[in-house]
Amino acid sequence: MIKAMIDGVRNIFKTPVTIKYPLTPLKVEKNYRGLIKYNDKFCIFCDKCENVCPPGAILFVQDLDGGKKYNYNPYLCIYCSECVRECPKTKKALWQVEELSKPAIKEENINNSWFELEIKAKKSRIAYKKHKKSKKDN
Ligand code: SF4
Ligand code: SF4
Repeated sequence: MIKAMIDGVRNIFKTPVTIKYPLTPLKVEKNYRGLIKYNDKFCIFCDKCENVCPPGAILFVQDLDGGKKYNYNPYLCIYCSECVRECPKTKKALWQVEELSKPAIKEENINNSWFELEIKAKKSRIAYKKHKKSKKDN
């Protein structure tokens, strides 16, 4: 009882822990895990980032000529950083920003087409394997 009273009196003189967000900007802690960034110039297209991503927020669509197109869904991403840890070209091909930033794309614009993209990516790999095999056979 007495302890509670002392704590109560102490709290009167303490500054609030809460901040007036968004009027007061949030303090970003060191090693904050923000959006995933990608640069195809340094990517070796090993697919490791895609394979380790728990929610499937990275998808590569395969071209018949062997090229691949990277796709990232920031609204599926859980910001675990597994892709960055796994990437052999980390910090050049794939990295995570340490700042608060909004995705450039709107949620509905990417989420409404993500399921179709997953099917497209799967089909593109099957088509590529077939294409490679037919080239070998000829
Ligand atoms: S941070 Fe995690 S969830 Fe986000 S893309 Fe990388 S592996 Fe996937
Ligand atoms: S893990 Fe890195 S190098 Fe491999 S596909 Fe992903 S971004 Fe490219």
